[in-house]
Amino acid sequence: MLVIDPILPVVCVNDNYLKLKAGYLFPEIARRVQLFTQANPQADLIRLGIGDVTEPLPEACRVAMKVAIDEMGTEAGFRGYGPEQGYSWLREVIAKNDFQARGCDVSPEEIFVSDGSKCDSTNILDILGDQNRIAVTDPVYPVYVDSNVMAGHTGDASESGQYQGLVYLPISAANDFVAQLPSKPVDLIYLCFPNNPTGAVATFDQLSRWVEYAKEKKALILFDAAYEAFIQDESLPHSIYEIDGARDCAIELRSFSKNAGFTGTRCAFTVIPKTLTGRSLDDRQINIWDLWNRRQSTKFNGVSYIVQRGAEAIYSLEGKSQIRNLVDFYMENASIIRTNLSDSGLTVYGGENAPYVWIKTPEGISSWSFFDFLLNKANVVGTPGSGFGASGEGYFRLSAFNSRDNVELAMKRIRAL
Ligand SMILES: *Cc1c(COP(=O)(O)O)cnc(C)c1O
Repeated sequence: MLVIDPILPVVCVNDNYLKLKAGYLFPEIARRVQLFTQANPQADLIRLGIGDVTEPLPEACRVAMKVAIDEMGTEAGFRGYGPEQGYSWLREVIAKNDFQARGCDVSPEEIFVSDGSKCDSTNILDILGDQNRIAVTDPVYPVYVDSNVMAGHTGDASESGQYQGLVYLPISAANDFVAQLPSKPVDLIYLCFPNNPTGAVATFDQLSRWVEYAKEKKALILFDAAYEAFIQDESLPHSIYEIDGARDCAIELRSFSKNAGFTGTRCAFTVIPKTLTGRSLDDRQINIWDLWNRRQSTKFNGVSYIVQRGAEAIYSLEGKSQIRNLVDFYMENASIIRTNLSDSGLTVYGGENAPYVWIKTPEGISSWSFFDFLLNKANVVGTPGSGFGASGEGYFRLSAFNSRDNVELAMKRIRAL
């Protein structure tokens, strides 16, 4: 017989949450920074650690949102609940500009507007089964891993922080930071290009190999393209749908957070091709678009009309030029970081088609030692590579999201070391 301790609550919690390695990376950075500032209250810290943008919202977006607010204040222009999938005028400009203009066969109906890629990348697990074998890269954007832990798709974490049941695909300089195809079978694969944290981008050939693999194994690729706007090299694919066959095996996540500074405004979208199918437990072929549409209609009430008007303005002539300027500004920061660090004798990766520079720490120096070194000697805060996974050990991430003055000052201090 089950005996319930009278002092314990009866309601059960999701025990999967107890497996999480208590958000080790950013709290630990905060702790070390706090200790440092307590001991050095006069120090002028420069934070090149976080993946948040710093430049203000583009004017085109602000103007469009102000107009939308005024519309909402009129009898005729007021809007209540919008379509859960997003307004068709926004889905149309997205399909046309981001996909059809690149030769990708993506229709407006295949675009689902949302309030963020972070939520989309985790919500998608709602419509996928618990039996899937899941592959993530190492290092990785931690959200992909933690959301699977929360959903009960893993066992416990090992000493090194790797969860039982996940297939980790190491990425390093040895494979140009593009994972090799898995040697054991997997059903669901998370890929992020341009990559956070390494700043790497897969070439057509590399991405084609992944699409071929997924099609052959009938696996699904979750392709996170949150940083596609930062690609400078014309030969690199921006969307996985530039690869033949991707409509049969890939979902793509896009966000306005990084290209248009929407991290605090919140708007993103997910592409679910109507041709995409999965398998039910009783071996029927199930349309994934139908499931996601059902999921969104039930659990989501759409993005604010005002914000969607702001997002639409990104695709206007002024909007396009303003976001180009934003991206150029951050990429110039990235280039300043790359040049200065290379000149200081460090080996650097990324930063050419992504706002992140991925630095090899000097021989024999761990990611965390390098963090302490830069914090203490240059008062610059970065992110230890090992925080993104065991294979990130020996690497360090600097972000290009900061003011020009801060970037230049940080580089001056590092060069002086
Ligand atoms: C910043 C970022 C996103 C965007 O998330 P939002 O929720 O849309 O702000 C998605 N993926 C990665 C890897 C990111 O770094």
